[in-house]
Amino acid sequence: MGWSVGYDSNWKRDIGYGVPAYCDHPGCTAEIDRGLGYVCGGEPYGGEHGCGLYVCTEHSEYAGDKRDNVRLCKACRYGKHTYLATADHPDWIAHKLADESWQQWRDENPDEAAALHGAGARGGA
Ligand SMILES: [Zn+2]
Ligand SMILES: [Zn+2]
Repeated sequence: MGWSVGYDSNWKRDIGYGVPAYCDHPGCTAEIDRGLGYVCGGEPYGGEHGCGLYVCTEHSEYAGDKRDNVRLCKACRYGKHTYLATADHPDWIAHKLADESWQQWRDENPDEAAALHGAGARGGA
């Protein structure tokens, strides 16, 4: 299965290329995934230079040689750490609440599952 779905304990959310998501740039609703292609810093959790948030191509830039030319969100690129994690994509919430592969998680985390139900009902972000 590889690295399709994992968990980011720093931002407390699901990550991986199997997780549909919105860009974490404030107000941006570009649909991306939380795979390595979109992560700030070029590796899960952001590595040495990034924050580990996920941004679309429009809201990312390559850092210079000093920072290993990694892909960064604009906040990290310009040294302003102002981004917050955006809400999960409604498709992902629906998947977590319905898919068999998440049955065990739902059984073990009934409170979180109930909270997700509320988030889904509000239409996500
Ligand atoms: Zn960043
Ligand atoms: Zn964006």
